[in-house]
Amino acid sequence: MYRLFRIFAILVISLLSVSQLMAKDFVVVIDAGHGGHDYGAIGNKTNEKSINLGVALKLGNLIKKNMDDVKVVYTRDGDYFKELQERAEIANKAHGDLFISIHTNSVDKKNKRRTTIKGTATYTLGLHRSAENLAVAKRENSVMMLEDDFSTTYCGFDPNSTESYIIFELSQNQHMEQSIDFASRVQSEMVTTAGRQNNGVRQAGFWVLAKTGMPAVLIELEFICNPTSEAFLASESGQNKFAKSIFNAFKSYKTSFDRKSGKIHDNHKSGKSRGDSNELEDEQNEEEEVTDTEQAESAGDLVYKVQFLSHPSKLKKNSSEFRGLKGVDCYRDGGMWKYTVGSYDSLDKAKTEMNKVRKKFSDAFIITVRDGKRVR
Ligand SMILES: [Zn+2]
Repeated sequence: MYRLFRIFAILVISLLSVSQLMAKDFVVVIDAGHGGHDYGAIGNKTNEKSINLGVALKLGNLIKKNMDDVKVVYTRDGDYFKELQERAEIANKAHGDLFISIHTNSVDKKNKRRTTIKGTATYTLGLHRSAENLAVAKRENSVMMLEDDFSTTYCGFDPNSTESYIIFELSQNQHMEQSIDFASRVQSEMVTTAGRQNNGVRQAGFWVLAKTGMPAVLIELEFICNPTSEAFLASESGQNKFAKSIFNAFKSYKTSFDRKSGKIHDNHKSGKSRGDSNELEDEQNEEEEVTDTEQAESAGDLVYKVQFLSHPSKLKKNSSEFRGLKGVDCYRDGGMWKYTVGSYDSLDKAKTEMNKVRKKFSDAFIITVRDGKRVR
């Protein structure tokens, strides 16, 4: 009898843990920057490490309360030091689906705009396009110098040397599109929910983003060196607004993630290959798109195109973003504009084109299109 009871108990426990595992199908890793003896940027009244932690915990609580199927993992949940490399390792070990690093911005004392500069920016991994973006990455990466033997851990990477940052141009990042997608959602929420100035989605070489094998962003909430912004950053209501903004962005990103992963075929939402679609039309047609694509699978010829860029806005044909590429087409997917060149009936021809494009865009890849819609 006892044995039977034991078997029954084990069965119930296993079923419970299986259902828990199944329920938590998305892992979000929340990374509060700095901590312990690393204060981050310092303000008049407060410091970066406390603000980052405050917003991180508030965000985590919102997710835990409202989204049963999401597991929240913190890289730190208290005031202690964590190495940059360790943060990435925690995220990777947890098999994170999204990494959100939370930081507070500042400019140095010589900067004339020090007390007036304001706004929120969300960074994804990439090579900086401005000195300003490089300066932010340098400041955030330089915390690695607080670690013993940082040169060995980070393979000789020098956070203060501009030359070191060239590695980020060559780093392949298969999660770039999703990172930019989430970053764009954060930025628009920061305006509507937290009332911040939108300083845009930007790219720079952040070590912690480079080492996490998942979509990853680093949010610079506001400027602690601006007294008005500092007051907002330090206040409970300000931190709640930041947390709510990131939470709203996360919720909509997750909804879109679920929709995509529930599809049999790839993650296209709209598949117009010519640059003639518009956002409103795409949204109206969203429901129908699935059927269209399923039909498309059994009819029409396949063509191969080389996708080289994903961008939040629709760009002009001669945009400098294309780095001189001609004959660019685009389509909209997951809230982003995807840019392609070429249209080939053979994969080999597309590969030759892709190798040419990769000299300018190192992570260009081939997509398969049927009847004007992406199928792979
Ligand atoms: Zn920071």
